[in-house]
Amino acid sequence: MSLATAASPTRRVLVPASVDATLPPLGGYLHEFGGGTMGTTWSVRLVAAMHLKREPVLRAIQGALDEVVDQMSTWDAESDLCRFNRAAADTWHALPGPFLDVLACARDVAERSDGAFDPTAGALVDAWGFGPAARHGVPAAGHLEQARRLAGWRRLELDPVRRSARQPGGLTLDLSAIAKGFGVDLVARRLAALGIASHLVEVGGELRGSGVKPDGQPWWVQLEHPDAHAGDTQALLALHGLSVATSGDYRRWFEHGGTRFSHTIDPRDGRPVRHGLASVTVIHAECMLADAWSTALNVLGPIAGPALANRLGLAARFIVRHDTRFEERTSAAFDDLLQ
Ligand code: AMP
Ligand code: MG
Repeated sequence: MSLATAASPTRRVLVPASVDATLPPLGGYLHEFGGGTMGTTWSVRLVAAMHLKREPVLRAIQGALDEVVDQMSTWDAESDLCRFNRAAADTWHALPGPFLDVLACARDVAERSDGAFDPTAGALVDAWGFGPAARHGVPAAGHLEQARRLAGWRRLELDPVRRSARQPGGLTLDLSAIAKGFGVDLVARRLAALGIASHLVEVGGELRGSGVKPDGQPWWVQLEHPDAHAGDTQALLALHGLSVATSGDYRRWFEHGGTRFSHTIDPRDGRPVRHGLASVTVIHAECMLADAWSTALNVLGPIAGPALANRLGLAARFIVRHDTRFEERTSAAFDDLLQ
């Protein structure tokens, strides 16, 4: 693990250990697309012939993201997820493949993080006013207790053969910490299926890059930092066969009685995390996993987070908020990417 303070001027470059052996030929033209999804924006940059027909590409991208929303949105009352959340106790529900895959992945991250990540924390997220229920401020103790009783990833039963999930009663799924990353992966796969090998896909700041730009350079991206003036500790990442996601307390939060309440909930005590971590960035081949693990490690905090990242070989960067400065902690796998 390496430590650096915001005062040490370093401009670092991270590159993947291996280069894609089937690199597309150089040349082609850069095309840019953009739109809205999941309460945020998306953007795609890709390399193709100059006369690319844009319409089918745009349809493929927006179609993939609409699919994710139709299945996994907490905000769209008619999504498969919302219908599952409303379903009667002790009923099984056949789910669309992508939804089930994301749920299975979320449950796996919940298990490996010992419940720090919990895709069934919806009632808790709502209780703290970060879900679709219009509510603000600190919830009453009774309300919180009730929400805690409803949550718990161990209550989630999946049947991979029948491709269905059981609603035990009142279980409230929330896939907001993983679905964006999955959406990025799905768009990247649809572009690859269209024969577009070089692309950079972004949804709400989460990114996945494949291939190279027309000039042969990889897609360079700057890692997000909670301090907009952290130019000194800039880290540039070559997104070549890699994804990156960041979970941070500076994204969504509210202040009450001088305390900052983050939208990341620690399901183990039902309260917003308050350990001083400003952000966690995870680099992974799959954006779904980068997304889920950045949230999971964010819950675990500045000590247990790096420890688990090292145990699991995850490339992660933690930014710890001190009174007047930020401190950076990185996992061994993150350091391995540094040039
Ligand atoms: P992210 O920005 O990817 O870290 O996702 C944050 C969102 O995930 C929150 O707005 C909640 O909807 C949800 N969430 C909060 N805490 C957790 C948690 N411990 N496990 C899974 N999802 C969570
Ligand atoms: Mg996340």
